[in-house]
Amino acid sequence: MTKVRTRFAPSPTGFMHLGGLRTALYAYLYAKNHGGDFILRIEDTDQARFVEGAVELIYSSLKDSGLYYDEGPDIGGNYGPYIQSERKEIYKKYAEELIKRGGAYYCFCSKERLESLTDENGNRKYDKHCLSLSKEEVDRRIASGEPYVIRQNIPAEGKSTYHDLIYGDITVDFSELEDNILIKSDGMPTYNFANVIDDHLMGITHVIRGTEYLSSTPKYNLMYDAFGWERPEYIHLPTIMKDATRKLSKRYGDANFDDFVKKGYLKEAIINYVALLGWAPKDNSEKMTLAEMVEKFSLDGISRSPSIFDEVKLKWLNGEYIRALSPEDFYALALPYIEKSAANGKFDLKKVAALMQPRVETLGEIPEKIDPIANFGDYDKELFFNKKNKTDFALAKTLLPELIGFAENTDDFSNDNLYAKLSEKAAELGVKSGALLWIMRIAITGQSVTPGGATEIAALLGKEETVKRLKHSLALLA
Ligand code: GLU
Repeated sequence: MTKVRTRFAPSPTGFMHLGGLRTALYAYLYAKNHGGDFILRIEDTDQARFVEGAVELIYSSLKDSGLYYDEGPDIGGNYGPYIQSERKEIYKKYAEELIKRGGAYYCFCSKERLESLTDENGNRKYDKHCLSLSKEEVDRRIASGEPYVIRQNIPAEGKSTYHDLIYGDITVDFSELEDNILIKSDGMPTYNFANVIDDHLMGITHVIRGTEYLSSTPKYNLMYDAFGWERPEYIHLPTIMKDATRKLSKRYGDANFDDFVKKGYLKEAIINYVALLGWAPKDNSEKMTLAEMVEKFSLDGISRSPSIFDEVKLKWLNGEYIRALSPEDFYALALPYIEKSAANGKFDLKKVAALMQPRVETLGEIPEKIDPIANFGDYDKELFFNKKNKTDFALAKTLLPELIGFAENTDDFSNDNLYAKLSEKAAELGVKSGALLWIMRIAITGQSVTPGGATEIAALLGKEETVKRLKHSLALLA
């Protein structure tokens, strides 16, 4: 059996859209599940859209996600070059060959003439005007330096059917298609041409891409047939929606891999979530490593209906990944976010990390969770009133001096010790430990909701800062 070869063929736009990442992932999973090769090809024939650094971003996003390609522009391979702008001569040669075989023709029509073909509804379809030019005329006009394009010659009538491995038989009437440009006047190919030439020359066995190409595939098949080449298998993937009516859009930068990484999503979690956008394994697992996905991947788990991008679910999954990290790994990943927070320079950053790991779903939530604790100051005294713990202002006033004395006389400021000793202290004072801890929590943070209970926060603050804050609160109540 021929070795499976799939490819990811992005245009360098300057960002890695999650829709693109999903295409790359499925192409990778399909190839690896079959022991095949996964190839990266850069489709940069639209030079007007050149973005500095865009190609490098594709390399790094794929590698960061664990999608190591077997061949590609930066690592080479036997089927290069893997950048379309470096393959101009190849396209030229095949375009001429296709013309000889009747599958394409030169077109010299001016912009004005093309515009005159627009009907009253604003639609325009090329009328095959130049198809009838004689070979002599074509040669003469090319020799005289007249600009031209090369168009595909699509039969005026008839239809074509192919089998998509997800969507089944797809039939398109030739009358719905147009003689699209294959080679532009600057000599660069369009996607319509380059994808066919490259997929064939690169030995791609399975073309995996978005459904937007489902109905143009018959045009590509005409070219495979004209060249006498074997058509690849096609796997078109369902659209990803932002909500019930809107597509997740590249243009508006809706969902870029980099943005999610910056917001504190783990790469493993992103790639795991992206896998679920249109595919479910037979056993319905959700949290999977890339290796597990490779093993479980199969086309019958791919859905035909659009999938909705759900950031809440991505967040949940990310939280699961965060919880599964070792404290050391979490610390390393969380450090940049902790350093950005008000805790930097005030607290022991390792302790901040330990407090945060069970409590955040993204690393980006760290500053908003820890800043209120770090920025202690005056606060609303009403916070001492708490129904459940039966605390109030007066009780706070009585207990605060006790808490100050306790803190001053305690040296072991570990959470366990503080918790045990404060329970004893509450019994000794004849109050519920819940009440004592509530008052302590408010007095050392000025917050009713804190990441961790009173003793965990006190352990983070340390003895000196805890005493200082308790005294500040007592003064506030006076
Ligand atoms: N360059 C095309 C795109 O970014 C690739 C489509 C394909 O995979 O054939 O949409």
